[in-house]
Amino acid sequence: MTDGPILLIEDNPLNMELAGEILRQAGCTVLEAATAQEGLRLAVEARPALVLLDIQLPDLDGLEAVRRLRADARTAGIPVVALTAQAMKGDEAAARAAGCNGYIAKPINTRSFASDVLTFLHPPGGRDHVARP
Ligand code: MN
Repeated sequence: MTDGPILLIEDNPLNMELAGEILRQAGCTVLEAATAQEGLRLAVEARPALVLLDIQLPDLDGLEAVRRLRADARTAGIPVVALTAQAMKGDEAAARAAGCNGYIAKPINTRSFASDVLTFLHPPGGRDHVARP
């Protein structure tokens, strides 16, 4: 269904389980990382089609993580969508400024999450933004 795995970087086990299950039921292959460092390592190794990035992580701020993804030629073209509970004004702008392509607020909407995510893989009416090797 997708062009490659979706990398889910999330330290909360319940959020990981919920988001991962929804995406797997939508036909996606999901790679999971509970820390930013593990997520950055997997992003280089697996070249996912999309990264879903929790902004509050134990080891590294998610905004710093996306800056590192953008700074590395191997991962610079991968779409990154911020996942954050900090649903406050300015957060989306901060996420975009750091290099995120978009933003999904937590708690996630279980009815729309899969389609929200896939929109970033295949923008409606737009070209395919997914980086290819
Ligand atoms: Mn978190």
